[in-house]
Amino acid sequence: VSNTITSEKICHTTCPYCGVGCGVEVTVNETTDGKKALSKLEGNRQHPANFGQLCVKGSNLLETNDLSNRLLHPSIDGKRASWPDAYQHIADKLSTIIKEHGPDAVAFYVSGQLLTEDYYVVNKLAKGYLGTANVDTNSRLCMSSAVSAYKRAFGEDIVPCDYQDLENTDLLVLIGSNAAWTHPILFQRMEKAKKLNPSMKIVHVDPRANATTSLADLHLAIKPGSDAYLFNGLLAYIADNNALDNSFIETHTDGFNDALACATLSVEEVAQLCDVPIDNIRTFYSLFVSSPRAISFYSMGINQSNSGVDKANSIINCHLASGKIGKEGSGPFSITGQPNAMGGREVGGLANMLAAHMDIENPKHREKVKNYWQSPTIATNGGLKAVDLFDAIENGKVKAVWIMATNPLVSMPNRNKIERALAKAELVVVSDVVEKNDTLAFADVKLPATAWSEKDGTVTNSERRVSRQQGLLIPPGEAKHDWQIISEFAQTMGFNEGFNFSHPSEVYAEHAGLSGHDNHDERYFNISAHQHISKHQYNTLRPFRWPLTGDDTKDNARVFSDGKFYTDNGRAKFMPILPRLPEQATSDAFPFVLNTGRLRDQWHTMTRTGKAGKLTQHIAESCLYINANDADALGVIEGEAVYLSSQVSEAPQICLPVKIDNKLREKTCFAPIHWNQTFASSASIARLFTDARDPLSGQPELKHAAIQITKVPAL
Ligand code: SF4
Repeated sequence: VSNTITSEKICHTTCPYCGVGCGVEVTVNETTDGKKALSKLEGNRQHPANFGQLCVKGSNLLETNDLSNRLLHPSIDGKRASWPDAYQHIADKLSTIIKEHGPDAVAFYVSGQLLTEDYYVVNKLAKGYLGTANVDTNSRLCMSSAVSAYKRAFGEDIVPCDYQDLENTDLLVLIGSNAAWTHPILFQRMEKAKKLNPSMKIVHVDPRANATTSLADLHLAIKPGSDAYLFNGLLAYIADNNALDNSFIETHTDGFNDALACATLSVEEVAQLCDVPIDNIRTFYSLFVSSPRAISFYSMGINQSNSGVDKANSIINCHLASGKIGKEGSGPFSITGQPNAMGGREVGGLANMLAAHMDIENPKHREKVKNYWQSPTIATNGGLKAVDLFDAIENGKVKAVWIMATNPLVSMPNRNKIERALAKAELVVVSDVVEKNDTLAFADVKLPATAWSEKDGTVTNSERRVSRQQGLLIPPGEAKHDWQIISEFAQTMGFNEGFNFSHPSEVYAEHAGLSGHDNHDERYFNISAHQHISKHQYNTLRPFRWPLTGDDTKDNARVFSDGKFYTDNGRAKFMPILPRLPEQATSDAFPFVLNTGRLRDQWHTMTRTGKAGKLTQHIAESCLYINANDADALGVIEGEAVYLSSQVSEAPQICLPVKIDNKLREKTCFAPIHWNQTFASSASIARLFTDARDPLSGQPELKHAAIQITKVPAL
């Protein structure tokens, strides 16, 4: 019998959805005809991120793993092509463009869905071989403000906390995060910790009460965008109430007086600016100063802002001032949205970074990377960040773009511009798992990539924990791994030496060799103990946190416990923060503030979760959540449709049914990010947002658009 099961193997891998990075245990069956299938999936009890728990998305991974809508063969201009022909076609086009217009006329736009090895290879090709730093990522939309804030304060992109800190703290401040839906396993850990330790306090700072608020002792429903006022006020309160850690400030920091000089708000002023009852502000401030340990857990509500970096630094300032950092249960803790946003940061997968936490603007770092890669060139300046990158495509400066594992038509703000840009580009290459999505409609060359259950490599979660993602199934059709596609393409371009990888362990080992300390350059990112890792060691690698000090079985990676930071003088930097309001401000023409976010059971642009019937049962269609008073004023009732328009285009861009949510502040509304034209034939909500972005991080302001809502007239 051809399909008798001959073996059953339990394999450990990692969930591909969010930055929690849960360990997954999968049963892989092999049949006599050599085929493999997945039959059972559960949480990995040994994985320190989730200890066997999975949320509904992770539990339903097998439901989303079929071959429907899979891209299986390369194509050029809609016609099936061989891999060598596709590579040659791209190589010819890129070579001509580079020859005529220079390396910065080409760009890569990649994804936090890529594995670290994929990210490493594409970054190496662009920065070290083509000579352009135009490699940006959809992680720009997710956590780049947090990265910039860490670099300003600590000199390096270091997240100082771990998941156990969430359980061993006295005060948990959740800011701009609906963790109950976006990072459910972390939320479950918080719930459990609170049950075990009822004296632990939780404060939720969010304009909108949501599922996460249910766990909070105190909810601060601040005016959208006013976060930096709240934390500047906290800094002043810490100083005024004898809660400064003067010894830590004097010994380990610089810039305190300048930061304090900007933080002059009284509690009354904060209450007014944030539009929150004064007693609630007092309660929060008093909890922060009286709690020996405090974690500030923040996510997109802070990052996706035109002042996201300043907001994050206003939080970090409070931890530095009170010495609540570098200790168990204390510190600022940004959480990534994507499964491998952190891995991308490690290999320099952002346009303004170099590999292994080195700086593209630093000549010594550039020299070190160039020598290590033995590369013919090295990009000398930071490249274009996402919004600027698509601007440059639209205005013709960038002529070719290679998009990997992401769907910018849906996720980027100002979709009309992205459409114009991709229509204008001389060459659009898309490597992806899916055959159809909104972006693939613009691709000249389509390249089939491997999906979650086939991909083989590593990812790093929000607590700096590296885990293996194992290739469980044989790639279907002609799909290849992303690191393999880029390596083979690089060889077609004539770059043989630097890209002759035959297994992801070789890529990982090379990446590890760039990390670590040398010549008094004591970066915290250190996995150099793995630079000679064997294939077997790699395949059996257990989850570990960096910095790796040699023994990867121990979680000994507490950073800053000695008060040492990776700045020029080893001292952390306070940042003087002058709060700024959102750029997309409301007006008579656009009187509503639109906030966006994820739903509990959907993921990004629904290319995977949209396949699972179970995952659409929770919320089956997109809608606009508004307060009942606003609905009354608009003359609509629940279920009736409204048009949404914004500064991007006064013509209605989106039509959505209304859902009443009285937990929203008046004149604010909320819509999920997931729906798009390919799935459910609905316009993506991000199209309503302008190009407003943080001037330092380039992260778009995707939490605050000014919109007009009008009732759809009855027929
Ligand atoms: Fe996957 Fe995130 Fe859910 Fe964990 S919490 S199972 S990583 S989606």
